Amino acid sequence: MKTIGFIGAGNMAEAIVKGIDRTKFLPPQQIGVTDVNVQRLEHFAAMGHRAFADCRELVAFADYLVLSVKPQQMADVLAEAAPALREGTAVISIAAGISADYIRRALGRPELVVIPVMPNTPLLIAEGATAVGREEDTPAEQLAFVKQIFAASGKVWELPADKLSEVIPANSSSPAFIYYYAKLFCDQISQYGLEREMVKEMFCQTLIGAARMMLESGEDIDDLIAKVCSKGGTTIAGIEGFQAKGLDAAVAYGIQRCIERAHELG
Ligand code: NAP
Repeated sequence: MKTIGFIGAGNMAEAIVKGIDRTKFLPPQQIGVTDVNVQRLEHFAAMGHRAFADCRELVAFADYLVLSVKPQQMADVLAEAAPALREGTAVISIAAGISADYIRRALGRPELVVIPVMPNTPLLIAEGATAVGREEDTPAEQLAFVKQIFAASGKVWELPADKLSEVIPANSSSPAFIYYYAKLFCDQISQYGLEREMVKEMFCQTLIGAARMMLESGEDIDDLIAKVCSKGGTTIAGIEGFQAKGLDAAVAYGIQRCIERAHELG
């Protein structure tokens, strides 16, 4: 039975591990973590997982090594991990913008199997949207195993590995974009004499309903917009207001900056 080791036992590692625990896809003792924060180690140990104070022991334990630290911490972590990495271990990186080649270079292992993955925080409630990066020579068995890990907490898409930075605004950063958009709406609408909590609940239920309409109605997004926009009505007035103030250009620029930042980090 395979082992998975996480360097960095933070939010994302916890979301991924909870998905594996929920589906019982691996026994808890097959999963190990290391972290600079002792409380995080204790937290995972209390869930029945292996907690390693020494990063190199964790690296030696892992058949699949997940790099789940911040991109800025990656260089130090790779330097520490390199001497302990076993033959045959596959490396999974969930760090924004960090390429497979960067990891191979930093570890001094040109032949290493590296599978870059871009998950998102709704993994925590089993509603994740995860992109798994495939290179031409990624072994099918290891790719399938990695997809299974993330399928435990939501939906998985396979993409060419060199497109993982471009997908970030679609899944990984986008929960925050949606929260930001929801906050703007709730703040503005509640200024018109409505109770904010009620506005938030109504807006969130509308997000769920609208998302399901986009996924399940079989209609494209333009048609769905047109169906709500009756001529001379409130919706078209609102959309024209957004456009007049430059919402389309603002969204385009935000997405551009998000992707540019991913490339800067790698
Ligand atoms: P996080 O909660 O900060 O977790 C990272 C953990 O690693 C922290 O507990 C940190 O401890 C620890 N750490 C720092 N340096 C370390 C070292 N040298 N050795 C071992 N552990 C170390 O971050 P996260 O939100 O889980 O994000 C992890 C990765 O996922 C990032 O690369 C991010 O780009 C990627 N990601 C995140 C999201 C998201 O929505 N959060 C989505 C997709 C991808 P300290 O806190 O004490 O530094």
